[in-house]
Formats: sequence, C-alpha cells, structure tokens
Amino acid sequence: MTVEFISVGTEILLGNIVNTNAAYLSEKCAALGLSCYYQSVVGDNEERLEDTVRQALSRSDILILSGGLGPTKDDLTKEVVAKVFGRELYEDSHTRERIEAYFQRVHSDQVTPNNWKQAMVPKGARVVDNHNGTAPGLIIEENGKIAILLPGPPNEIKPMFERDIAPYLNELQPEGIYSKMVKLCSIGESKAETMVSDLMDAQTNPTIAPYAKTGEVHFRVTAKASDEKEAEKLFAPLMDELFRRFGDKIYTTEEAVTLEEAIVRLLKEQKLTVTTAESCTGGLLAGRITNVPGASNVFQEGYITYSNDAKERLLGVKRETLMQYGAVSPQTAEEMARKVAEAAGADAALSVTGIAGPGGGTKDKPVGLVYVGCYVKGHVRVEEFHFTGNRDKNREYTVARALTLLREELIGYKS
Ligand code: ATP
Repeated sequence: MTVEFISVGTEILLGNIVNTNAAYLSEKCAALGLSCYYQSVVGDNEERLEDTVRQALSRSDILILSGGLGPTKDDLTKEVVAKVFGRELYEDSHTRERIEAYFQRVHSDQVTPNNWKQAMVPKGARVVDNHNGTAPGLIIEENGKIAILLPGPPNEIKPMFERDIAPYLNELQPEGIYSKMVKLCSIGESKAETMVSDLMDAQTNPTIAPYAKTGEVHFRVTAKASDEKEAEKLFAPLMDELFRRFGDKIYTTEEAVTLEEAIVRLLKEQKLTVTTAESCTGGLLAGRITNVPGASNVFQEGYITYSNDAKERLLGVKRETLMQYGAVSPQTAEEMARKVAEAAGADAALSVTGIAGPGGGTKDKPVGLVYVGCYVKGHVRVEEFHFTGNRDKNREYTVARALTLLREELIGYKS
C-alpha cells in the first residue's frame, strides 16, 4: 500500500520550524512496509490545502496529515478534509468531555470558547484520543482511500502514532520491513559495489543498498515479510552469496556492532591485549577502541607521541631512526609499534605516523602520507597510505585503516 504525507503549517514553509514530523512518519511507515512516493508541505491556506489533499488521494492509498488541528481560525486541516470527503462536522461528546477533563487537569484558566472547535469531528470518522493535548486524531475511510489526521506537536503525534496509528496501519499492511546490515572492511567502496552490481540489478525482495562509511562499506539488506522468521528465510540465500563473495572482509552482520567492537571481541577471544602509539591521530585511535564498553579487558594504556622527543622518551624509538628516515617513515612506524608493545607489555600494538595537513607536507612526504604499523606477537606489518582529504578526514581514514590492519593480522586475513 502507498502512503503520502502532508505537513500543514506556514511556519514549516517559512523554515521557522523543521519538519521533523515528516522524517518521523517516513521512518515509521517504511518500517511498517508502506511505500511512500510523495510528501508535501502546505501553508495554512484552504484552497491550496484542498488541492493538495485531492491530488494526494488520487495517487496514494493512505494520506497522513500532520498539523492544523488546533483551535484557531487558521487551523483548517479537519475542515478541508471533511469537505473533500463530503462529511459534515458534529460535536463528538466523548472528545468534548476529554477536552474538559484535560483543561481541568492542566491549564484550567486557559480554556477559551474556540477550544470546543476541537471537539467537532467529521461524520463517520474514527476518533483517536490525544493523551498529551486537546486535538484528537481522526481516521476517515472511504472507497479504499484513507485519510489520517494527526496533531502537529511532536510530543502529541509520536505517542498517538505509536499507540493507535501504527497498530491500525499494521492491520492494513501485515507485511513489515526487516533489515540487516552487512559491514565490510579491507575493501574500497567502488570495488565492493561493483562486486554486487548484478545482485543490485536483479533485486526484488530482499533488496541490497550500499552505504559508505569512512574506511568501511556497509550494505543494508532489506526484506518485506510477514514476520521475522519469513524475513530470515528470504535473507538466507543473499547472505550466503555475500559471504561467498566477500568472505573475511565481512566483519559483522549486526547493525549495532562497530569495527572497533568487532576487534575488541576478537582480542578477547584470542586473549590478547593491545596498545597504541599515535602521532598524527592524537589519540583518536585509542578513543575508538575505548568507545567499546569492556575495552579495559584488552586495552590498558596508549600513548600520544606527537613530537620526536616524545617518540624517543616515551617509546624508546632510536634517535638515529628518526634522524635517518624521519618521523613519517615506515622505519619509524615499525619501531613505534614494537617499542610501544614493549612499553605497555601488550600482545599487539598499532602505531600511526603521518602528515594530516593542511601544512607540513613536502614534495617527498606530501600531506596525507601516513604509515601505520601493526605488531602482533613479534611480527610487525607496516602499511603506507596516501589520503586526499582534509585534516579531519585524513585522521578519520587513518584510524579506520589502522583498525582494519589490526583485524587483518588477528584473523590471518589473506587478500
Ligand atoms: P495544536 O493543537 O497545538 O494547535 P496543531 O495540530 O494545530 O496543534 P500546528 O498548530 O500546525 O498543529 O502546530 C503546532 C506546533 O507543532 C508547531 O508550532 C510546531 O512546534 C509543531 N509542529 C507542527 N508541525 C510540525 C512538523 N511537521 N514537524 C515538527 N513540528 C511540527
């Protein structure tokens, strides 16, 4: 079934308020398996609202309007929709009582005659109680078309949607949307996309969509199904195919698991500890690792050794190495990795040295040149990277690459 949203309010058109209701409704309806192809914003204008409602009803099964249900003259949504459906308004005694009770509970001094306008409802409409405000929600059904009118304030529309509207829509559209996130590292975005282009071309249910993340590739696999069990059945062949194509590059299929979390899990499984020696990332790498709850089991200390002096003093990198090859060199990265593992008494270590920019680059060692060293139980692997972003991006990419390198070494990854 198709659903369409109309957000009513001149203040949305003027940019005075952000249309968070549309974002909220989009996400909720997509999760319910409804297809949304159109959304509009209309000011508090009778003619334009009527036009928009008529057009929406001509092309969508369900129309959800938010806002314009208030007590003032410029709140027109209910009147316009009632006109389009040819329904008269009458006073709903239950809603009047609810509004009276609401005003007795809160703002008893603020009730004005126009508040009773909110108790007027279109004939034959289903009334949905508002537990956080006065304007009721309304559902009008006719000839296979449905209009759902909801209040504008987010603290009213959200509880009403969760409590009454979502179950109602769920009955109309029993199929829901289920999804999985397949997360990869050790591969670039364009290569990963090319490797699934045939699957994307052939997709119907489930579908697959790529999401780029700094230094990683994520694929969202989405299925329409009546329940989770059926969704799992639909997912299975595609997931098998993704594992066949990407193998070890997939580090998780759990939405909430991050790369650093997958690595902390691996370290725990292998009963290893890790440490870090960072120059240009200034602690970002240790920050990512310690973002993971329980990281203290595998990470006891890390070092920020920004200057040559710090590299010598805290890690014990030889002055000759720094003088002969420079701080940004594979030799320094290798020594940093070995020495920091020794200093921290850790089984594994990551070292980072590079030029994040914007200044500091030379012809031989340009901005974006980064060396990452990865030490695991006596063996060090050093990788050279050439990043082309700004300072922030270069540092972010460096951290992602360093984490990927550690994962590769821990799982014995073969490219
Ligand atoms: P009320 O009964 O409070 O008058 P209403 O249903 O008439 O509510 P509006 O008067 O259109 O709704 O909007 C009331 C308030 O709700 C706005 O000032 C704004 O803060 C919020 N609101 C309305 N529409 C949206 C929207 N699309 N996204 C986010 N907030 C909104």
